[in-house]
Amino acid sequence: MKTRLLFLGPPGAGKGTQAARICDSNGMKHLSTGDLLRTEVAAKSDLGQEAEAVMNRGELVSDKLVLAIVESQMKALSGEGWLLDGFPRTVPQAEALEPLLNELKQPIEAVVLLELDDAVLITRMLSRGRADDNEDVIRNRLEVYRDKTAPLISYYQNKGLLISVPAQGSVEEITERITKVLS
Ligand code: AMP
Repeated sequence: MKTRLLFLGPPGAGKGTQAARICDSNGMKHLSTGDLLRTEVAAKSDLGQEAEAVMNRGELVSDKLVLAIVESQMKALSGEGWLLDGFPRTVPQAEALEPLLNELKQPIEAVVLLELDDAVLITRMLSRGRADDNEDVIRNRLEVYRDKTAPLISYYQNKGLLISVPAQGSVEEITERITKVLS
């Protein structure tokens, strides 16, 4: 089983749900930059206050801020596997991750791309009721994904790390598909 992973895919594809399930079953650390940022927002920390408005518009928080969070989380890992969910979200973030992982001597073993049609993504997001899940913001988040994050697909394809998984069907079916491609 591969245990140093990235989850890539549009908002609403089920990355968070699947990442939590895969990490629970395999004793890996689930690192979701969205969850970490929401924790900062709830705590009203300086970092959270800086991020909140940007998140509510469906835009991306600065690479610098997100990298600071990821770096401190990765350095605190104690040898277990990990799954980065929602990071990297831009090519510069991916480029910054490389020297960090080299330093930790923990190369990525696979990048899982969860693929789903826009219509299903929008329906799923509208049913979550999160602060950044109203229709205009959702449209913006999909556009940001296409512009800034989708280039990572060829970035990781070129490194021979990308594995695509269809993300339609039940939660259990999708977990099964992911587990299979990682074994
Ligand atoms: P998520 O829970 O992954 O959908 O993330 C929610 C929001 O947090 C995103 O719409 C961004 O505003 C912000 N965010 C999460 N991860 C990142 C990242 N890697 N880079 C920049 N912004 C991020």
